[in-house]
Amino acid sequence: MSRLAGLAKYTAGLAAAGALAQAAPAVTSLGPVRAALWPGLTGLGAPGHVALTFDDGPDPASTPLFLDVLEEAGVHATFFLLGRMVRRSPWLARRIADAGHEVALHGWAHRAHLAVSPGQTLRDLRRGRDEVAAATGRAPGWYRPPYGIATAATFAACRSLDLRPVLWSAWGRDWTTRATAESVFHTVARDLRGGGTVLLHDSDCTSKPESWRATLGALPLLLAHCAEQGWRVGPLAEHGTA
Ligand SMILES: [Zn+2]
Repeated sequence: MSRLAGLAKYTAGLAAAGALAQAAPAVTSLGPVRAALWPGLTGLGAPGHVALTFDDGPDPASTPLFLDVLEEAGVHATFFLLGRMVRRSPWLARRIADAGHEVALHGWAHRAHLAVSPGQTLRDLRRGRDEVAAATGRAPGWYRPPYGIATAATFAACRSLDLRPVLWSAWGRDWTTRATAESVFHTVARDLRGGGTVLLHDSDCTSKPESWRATLGALPLLLAHCAEQGWRVGPLAEHGTA
């Protein structure tokens, strides 16, 4: 069911973009198929490690609270930053990097690649990459496409910008109107195995307002769960991704 929810969110994104054309090139939306065919793209890594990733920030209303929880826990994560959010709060992107977290790229505008031309896809990634690099002093190495939908143009843009595309193996559905800390935690835990990559959101800029509160509440539960399982939690840089 979670995949359907993802498709629903993705479809909403497309509707907002006003285009449903070019549906053929989407190759990454089927989770189990994706994991079997492209383990690296799914973010599968060393079995004793879980990669913790956050999308859609940086957001001054919420990201600092996530940084506080992570600092308290002594955990580093990977933040997939949106260029347009970095433009508004470059200091916060810098703070993420200075705290030892890995900065990665979620593009500039968060438009579904199916709804835009290959040239627009490339420009979106390049503009986002340049913004992240200027704010943090680091060139992002990973890229995650909005809605988890990658097209041939997505992969071509990644190749030309030396970005490695990666999705996730477990998510919390934390953008939904009914998400709670418990629902987010249980949704992640249901799909999470050692070696998995967790997708959460540290901003509500593409989601229900204040949906990040459920995510923030779920984070300590998730960290405790990983500790119980004997999984070390860290950024993709330490994940040993295939
Ligand atoms: Zn996103």
